[in-house]
Amino acid sequence: MTDDNSNNGVTIMGAGLVGSLLSLYLAKHNYKVDIYERRNDLRQNYREYGRSINLALSDRGWKALEGVGIADEIRKVAIPMYGRMMHDLQGQLSYQPYGKDNQAIYSVSRGGLNVTLMDLVDQNPNINLHFNQQCLQADLVAGELEMLDTQNQEKHTIKTQRLFGADGAYSMVRYALQKTERYEYSQSYLEYGYKELRIAPGPNGEWALEKNALHIWPRGSYMMIALPNLDGSFTGTLFFPYEGDVSFNSLQTEADLKDFFGKIFPDALPLMPDLVADFFENPTGSLVTIKCFPWSLGDKAVLLGDAAHAIVPFYGQGMNAGFEDCTVLNQLIDEHPDDWQTIFRMFQELRKPNTDAMAELAVQNFIEMRDLVANPRFLLRKKIEGK
Ligand code: FAD
Repeated sequence: MTDDNSNNGVTIMGAGLVGSLLSLYLAKHNYKVDIYERRNDLRQNYREYGRSINLALSDRGWKALEGVGIADEIRKVAIPMYGRMMHDLQGQLSYQPYGKDNQAIYSVSRGGLNVTLMDLVDQNPNINLHFNQQCLQADLVAGELEMLDTQNQEKHTIKTQRLFGADGAYSMVRYALQKTERYEYSQSYLEYGYKELRIAPGPNGEWALEKNALHIWPRGSYMMIALPNLDGSFTGTLFFPYEGDVSFNSLQTEADLKDFFGKIFPDALPLMPDLVADFFENPTGSLVTIKCFPWSLGDKAVLLGDAAHAIVPFYGQGMNAGFEDCTVLNQLIDEHPDDWQTIFRMFQELRKPNTDAMAELAVQNFIEMRDLVANPRFLLRKKIEGK
């Protein structure tokens, strides 16, 4: 199989949030885009899937969505969060606004956003979307990609003259770059994982917690947060150590779990009817920061999104930064039409310092959120001592 090898043919690896948005930008510039995704079409499973996972969308993200004319559509399904609401060990609340004049970040459904982007991709005559296509390895100089059709397990090769790696934190395109001389690469994991836990709507389908806030249960060395969904539920995320006295490892039984939540998250527990199934059946996700450089190889290939700069989620900026990559790339294409070497070089020079700074801020904000927004160590000690 060969992608369009004329001057305006480009290939994107990964149809996640960033790859899908990028394809719309490239198509706007009249490039013929082939986009490959190892998973099947998420729209087929999305409605059955049911479990809602959400993300905080902020100004950087909105700007990028405006650039392809879909911000208004997403705004209709986005819930503004004007501040953070802290829950202490007694279930008492305190509120900190994010800014003046109703400044907000917005809770949006990850799946909903991806589906909206994919629908637009499908309608665009300049874009071909190929599902169930996993990149196994890439020869960036020759422009040859070894692909696996994940449905029939057959391998085949595609040729491309320009490759955009939007294939996430464990990018195969980046792996090919890593094999080039003197390549800079680092990955660092937190000793914490995360687990998504649902907070149910109230008896009449209403939001059981303040709808227009990002909720935080700061508990010193760990925390839970929750963002609102349109159906009245919240998606809670527990950021918790893998090992230790209080950790994923220490909560092995239903009784341990309920006892722990009853003491530590007493106001949330009654709102979590699926807690046991969620905790023991949902996967535990890891939290990684990945840095690398350069992000490009001549005019042949470039990385963007998590493939270039995966960060931990505590600043809510991973997707937003990936979307901003698309905004910047779009500007550079305007300024240097078809001069891909210059576009890629300037792109990485402009973006790398910003995404490195974001990576540091994101780790620091974990400490801020879990510890400094309240004085939970004291509260936690008091609760345990008074038991
Ligand atoms: P991905 O979303 O990982 O997409 C990559 C795509 O490439 C996937 O579809 C994958 O299947 C495909 N792919 C991978 N390998 C191959 C291959 N070999 N061949 C073909 N296809 C391949 N960000 C925010 O801005 N706000 C938030 O509130 C926020 N909250 C978060 C909460 C958590 C718990 C986590 C873990 C992350 C959060 N993020 C948030 C970060 C955000 O999820 C990522 O930054 C974003 O998903 C990156 O998008 P991407 O398209 O670059 O990568």
